[in-house]
Amino acid sequence: MTVQIDLSDKTALVMGVANARSLGWAIAEQLLSAGCRVGFSYQGERLKSELDKLLTGREGVWAQQADATSEADLTALFARVKEEFGHLDYLIHSIAFAPRTAMDGRFLDTTEADWNTALNVSAYTLVSTARHAEPLLRPGASIVSLTYHASQKVVPKYNVMGVAKAALEATTRYLASEMGAAGVRVNTISAGPMRTIAARSIPGFGSMFEKAAEAAPLGRNATPDEVGKLALFLLSDLGSGVTGQTVYVDAGSSIMAMKIEQPS
Ligand code: NAD
Repeated sequence: MTVQIDLSDKTALVMGVANARSLGWAIAEQLLSAGCRVGFSYQGERLKSELDKLLTGREGVWAQQADATSEADLTALFARVKEEFGHLDYLIHSIAFAPRTAMDGRFLDTTEADWNTALNVSAYTLVSTARHAEPLLRPGASIVSLTYHASQKVVPKYNVMGVAKAALEATTRYLASEMGAAGVRVNTISAGPMRTIAARSIPGFGSMFEKAAEAAPLGRNATPDEVGKLALFLLSDLGSGVTGQTVYVDAGSSIMAMKIEQPS
């Protein structure tokens, strides 16, 4: 289903598209179909060809390499945003990473280095990108990131990434509180499990995916397309009164304490 909304006078930066399955791409597709001009950043040259494939033949799009943990890359990226658009309406942060060693073992054994990497890439970069974006954001601008329910409840093996997502959600509230005066809204989308590259690095993701679908009131998992539609709502004027929130799109699975088979 396509949502009818005209964003042809809006500009967006989407950070974190690795391929067509990326949640960042699902959000970009909604923005592009609404006529928004969209710039993209990708982590490293290895990912450039995938993004190039997605952008071929589209007008008004551009892409630049930027590691979100590099101040120099962020400075260059937002200089490009200024050069291309002059201002920015929507910032999409769709970035997370934790070293495999931090998710394979016990949470108790998390090393300081792995902790710092996970929290830096997955949470601090929301602060740093918002700060770089700030001078370009117009009143009515909106920032959206992606989180997961393991911030609130224990999901085995999600480990330090659960802590990073809790930090991201708290960061969303602090940024919203400070940026509201300038008319800027900040929200995070808590998505259910979806088959992406990042998801593949979570040990036991397959059974997590099945269990979430079984538990969900809708009897299935939410889809990337549904993440895109929620993002469109939160970014655009449709969500004009919403800020500082963690908004779920998970087919309801997070509301269930347990699933009990009912006798037929
Ligand atoms: P993905 O692998 O397609 O996207 C993750 C992106 O993060 C990649 O493009 C990667 O290059 C980028 N990234 C990692 N480190 C970076 C760095 N230092 N600098 C710049 N970019 C960096 O996977 P995805 O599932 O689309 O992940 C996007 C977001 O959605 C993440 O925040 C993830 O935690 C969140 N999320 C995913 C799920 C899921 O089940 N897939 C569920 C809830 C939330």
